[in-house]
Amino acid sequence: MDLDKVIRKINSKNVKNVGLQFPEGLKMQAIKVAQILEDETDANVIISGDPCFGACDVCDYKMKDSVDLIIHYGHTPLPIKYEIPTLFIEAFANVDLKIGLEKTLEELKDYSKVGLVTTTQHLHMLNEIKDFLEDNGKEVILGSSKTTRKGQVLGCNFSSIKNLDVDGFLFVGSGNFHPLGIYLFTKSPVLALDPYNNEIREMTDYADRILRIRFARITKAREAKKWGIIVSSKEGQYRMELANEIKNLLKNNKMDAYIIMLDHVNPEVLLPYFELDAFVVTACPRIAIDDSQMYKKPLLTPQELEIVLNKRDWEQYQLDEILFRRRN
Ligand code: SF4
Repeated sequence: MDLDKVIRKINSKNVKNVGLQFPEGLKMQAIKVAQILEDETDANVIISGDPCFGACDVCDYKMKDSVDLIIHYGHTPLPIKYEIPTLFIEAFANVDLKIGLEKTLEELKDYSKVGLVTTTQHLHMLNEIKDFLEDNGKEVILGSSKTTRKGQVLGCNFSSIKNLDVDGFLFVGSGNFHPLGIYLFTKSPVLALDPYNNEIREMTDYADRILRIRFARITKAREAKKWGIIVSSKEGQYRMELANEIKNLLKNNKMDAYIIMLDHVNPEVLLPYFELDAFVVTACPRIAIDDSQMYKKPLLTPQELEIVLNKRDWEQYQLDEILFRRRN
């Protein structure tokens, strides 16, 4: 939790009111952290209770009249405008990778050049993993980009791994979405090592399964005449310009389209719009892919809509990405 750093910051800036924001997996630490900060500083702590899934969703807009500083746990900052000073504490996972890496070597035997990729929680281990692979004869490449740290990908941004000259990728982290994105953006073999259970997965079969589901959703959406276009009010996910372009595109194709702005996209908030046949999501790109089974109507990404409208071939299928820009 890096509390010494947080306490130093609060005291040095003489902060009176401080906002605390945690991702879902760390929220159970909120009360303990608040108690320590109130004991060790003169600041009054206000905890953000809303769901938070990334640095695209810092509670600066909501808390700007209530606090002088926000402590945001669990994510690295994005190149977007934050309304009030925000201290990002990355909250690295404490896991032992030794067994997992030993197992990975066998799976990597056909790769001599390996692209090494991870998420925020494991960035601190990249050098250790790189050293291990190099000691075992691999050449290791870490991609970089303006949006992310070296070797890091986000669920909505894969700029660091594009155009890397490697035989395959090793992704270290949990879940399937990030390695799926690496696979779809690079079309290279991807091995995913889950550091919490040392399980290793090759992503090709999973990617094929997801692509079949997406194909079915796109096919169903071809029947749609009335569309909802979802725009997020979260600073880092807000893409109104794209939503307006999509609306024009649909209208030019003689369809009805309505823009709906939401903070937290979920099946319940879409229920009242029963006249709509399908939705395009310009908010977090994971919503349409990860949560698709929860929605009765097709939820598509902007790139999937292009396939529906015959502006993109199925063979050019890609996940959606957010190119973070400051809102004026
Ligand atoms: S838009 Fe989605 S994937 Fe990107 S940072 Fe936000 S929550 Fe994560």
